[in-house]
Amino acid sequence: MRAFVHVDLDAISHNIAQIRNRTNAEILAVVKADAYGHGLIPVATRAVDSGASWLGVALLEEAVAIRQAGIEVPLIAWLTPPHDDFESALRLNIDLSVSSVELFQEILSEAKRVEKLPRIHFEVDTGMRRGGVLSDWDDFLRFAVEHKSEYVLAGFWSHFARADEPESNFSARQEAEFHNRLQELEDAGLIPNRVHLSNSAASLTRNSAHHSMIRLGIAMYGLSPNVNSMGPASDFQLIPAMTVKAQLHLVKDAKAGDAVGYGGTQVLEHDTKLGVVTMGYSDGLPRSTSNSAGVYFDGRRAPLVGRISMDQCVVDLGIDSKAKAGDYVTVIGGEGYSVDEWAAAAGTINYEIVTRIATRVPRIY
Ligand SMILES: *Cc1c(COP(=O)(O)O)cnc(C)c1O
Repeated sequence: MRAFVHVDLDAISHNIAQIRNRTNAEILAVVKADAYGHGLIPVATRAVDSGASWLGVALLEEAVAIRQAGIEVPLIAWLTPPHDDFESALRLNIDLSVSSVELFQEILSEAKRVEKLPRIHFEVDTGMRRGGVLSDWDDFLRFAVEHKSEYVLAGFWSHFARADEPESNFSARQEAEFHNRLQELEDAGLIPNRVHLSNSAASLTRNSAHHSMIRLGIAMYGLSPNVNSMGPASDFQLIPAMTVKAQLHLVKDAKAGDAVGYGGTQVLEHDTKLGVVTMGYSDGLPRSTSNSAGVYFDGRRAPLVGRISMDQCVVDLGIDSKAKAGDYVTVIGGEGYSVDEWAAAAGTINYEIVTRIATRVPRIY
């Protein structure tokens, strides 16, 4: 195996336990995007075994895959376009979220056709300006009341835009909006089974927003929602679950003055041993990190030299390195450059680093 992602499922269990110490709310484990690149079914299974009583995904296909694997816990898919496969959702007991009367109506008529009572969560927009009912709330509520015998109100929810900025007062304003909408809902006689608002950042810093359930994503994988504003995951006793390793294709001597890689963007300042690592940007290593991240081997860091290629990259192993072709180097995580360091080097966030590791890199557990 020239490269692999090692996923530490015990770290997932540990992280859920840490969060459970901080809240009385139920935990919905967010496993969208192939469990943030960690592998959908193994992570979903472990999360449920570790005390997550719900699972959440963006896409219906992801939810269907969870049911096909035999996982029976409550499960929501919150990002369905019109004419999605609602029949499968209904048959497989998958909760759906609605942000518009149109989608709500479509799901109700599909439910009549297949003779199932749909389980619906209402999403309200409290400031994110992405999903959620906004200006047509009154019409939406009227429709919801008129049709209240045709669905189960499984949940009421919203999403924070800036929960990772604990010093901002924006989340407090969103919470106030959320309480207003919830009050109007209850005044109309509609009582949701679950109320959920918090992502990882709010789960870690904003107890007032936990309600009956939190939606736990990045923190479950042992990463901080925002290292700059909230500090590293270790401050919250979280353990990163992902380590990426790859084999060396070749080790060879090179001379000071040699220019390495496409465009010759980096010139060696000293004689050294170069290692050709069998991972590149098609595997998910961001090309924009060139020259500023690297790998780890035998007790020390070997920085990238030159640009990352499609399937490979070159590192400076050091003149006295004992590395040889076939050896595994640690590319991301473990004792090497962390997910957060790769993210900083690429000018992005840790979420993007882990979710973009390509499916051609096998996951092992
Ligand atoms: C992705 C997502 C989450 C989890 O966010 P984290 O920051 O990873 O905890 C929660 N809720 C919704 C609706 C999401 O899309």
